[in-house]
Amino acid sequence: MADVVIIGAGPAGIFAALELSKRSPELDIVIVEQGKDIDERSRTGKEMVIGWGGAGAYSDGKLTISTDVGGQLSTLLPEEDLLGLLNEIDSVYSSYESCGDVFSIDPDHAAAISAQARLAGLVYIPTKVRHIGTENCYTILKNLRSVLDKRLRTIFNTKAVDIISENGRVKGVNLSDGTTIEAPCVIAAPGRVGSSWMSSQAKKLGLETHPNPVDLGVRVELPAVIMEDLTDKAYETKFIYYSKTFDDRVRTFCMNPYGEVVSETVGDILTVNGHSWANKRTENTNFALLVSADFTEPFDDPIGYGESVATMANMLGKGVIVQRLGDLLSGRRTTASRLMKCSTKPTLKQATPGDLSYCLPYRILTDIIEMLTCLDRIAPGVNSAHTLLYGIEVKFYSNRIRLGSNLETQVEGLYVIGDGAGITRGLIQASCSGVIAARSILKDN
Ligand SMILES: Cc1cc2nc3c(=O)[nH]c(=O)nc-3n(C[C@H](O)[C@H](O)[C@H](O)COP(=O)(O)OP(=O)(O)OC[C@H]3O[C@@H](n4cnc5c(N)ncnc54)[C@H](O)[C@@H]3O)c2cc1C
Repeated sequence: MADVVIIGAGPAGIFAALELSKRSPELDIVIVEQGKDIDERSRTGKEMVIGWGGAGAYSDGKLTISTDVGGQLSTLLPEEDLLGLLNEIDSVYSSYESCGDVFSIDPDHAAAISAQARLAGLVYIPTKVRHIGTENCYTILKNLRSVLDKRLRTIFNTKAVDIISENGRVKGVNLSDGTTIEAPCVIAAPGRVGSSWMSSQAKKLGLETHPNPVDLGVRVELPAVIMEDLTDKAYETKFIYYSKTFDDRVRTFCMNPYGEVVSETVGDILTVNGHSWANKRTENTNFALLVSADFTEPFDDPIGYGESVATMANMLGKGVIVQRLGDLLSGRRTTASRLMKCSTKPTLKQATPGDLSYCLPYRILTDIIEMLTCLDRIAPGVNSAHTLLYGIEVKFYSNRIRLGSNLETQVEGLYVIGDGAGITRGLIQASCSGVIAARSILKDN
């Protein structure tokens, strides 16, 4: 028996637990996490996104304090309330460790970048970002573990198998060790890694869902000096481009000045991602260029589509593929000897030199090439033959579950939060969602 069961110890689950235990210390709260405790985790393979801290533990630790990016909570909450909550969460992160710099772009600089962007055919979205850095973000989540360890129970290496409901009310959770925890409130926070499990639970419980688009593209890596003018002022510069050929929306995502490209295991697939340390610099900057693939009927499996594209890249490259932009544009493969001649030194050493045009759909490749040309007008050098492209970067978003503004589902007492609900896409909105669910439970009790 428990008062609240939380499934998943990522930022969403942790912040729900923090809020509940802080405001109502008498509550009996249990967190069920399929992975290991934070000290026992490693940064390789599937463990990179599983265990205490979830995908946040080895993330770049960028807190984007904006209602426009990092999730769709603004569709459920008034703009001002959400902004207030984002600032509140930012200060909680800051109180658990020295917390990096806040890059809040000055309005004159923003106006200048905006004007330049327009001339280049791009839209610039100014954002306020705190860059915590990978090592500091890990420490914050570790500190939160120590605090919460005294207040609640966490069961590691155990999966929530089934959420139980009766007459439209949640009853508890069946676990992979054969036990059942009965509880009047369940918060499911399974993250992207748990999205297919969450989809199957939603189906079983009769929850209404609809698919989110899948984002596909590449990770771009280039000498940091090329983007320095932008990244020094704003850290993360977000641009949107509507492609000439397809009128698709292409966007920059997760910019990591002086950072590293990393591979990420999603199920059985290897994809790419990026991060940067607070106290260690490489010579390169990386960012993703992503195209949203949104399908209409009869096809309703964007996740399956993204998996197929990424699987093809993995099949050809036996993992992640890296290609010089010059080789891609000349219609030839990058080989090991061509990569040796590249003036941009790859930070992901395990990537296989290859040919992305064999695995990226024409539409997406065209969108990306067009956007690189536009970006070059803002940051000359982006469209250089020596720019590296890693593929495939895929962002699978869980099916969006129908939720009330308090993140409760149609099953009373069952909340679904964070990236696993298809409602958030980043640390700060995932954390916010935990607090929203916790406050709703506290109000009802
Ligand atoms: C390399 C990398 C860099 C990133 N950089 C940034 C960044 O700079 N800024 C940013 O905003 N975001 C970043 N992100 C994304 C961010 O980490 C996620 O958006 C965030 O962690 C989502 O939080 P969550 O709690 O919803 O899910 P997760 O963090 O994914 O946590 C979910 C947890 O639930 C557990 N779980 C799943 N299913 C079950 C089950 N059935 N039973 C028990 N446990 C289960 C999982 O093991 C996992 O630990 C990055 C991600 C990666 C991988």
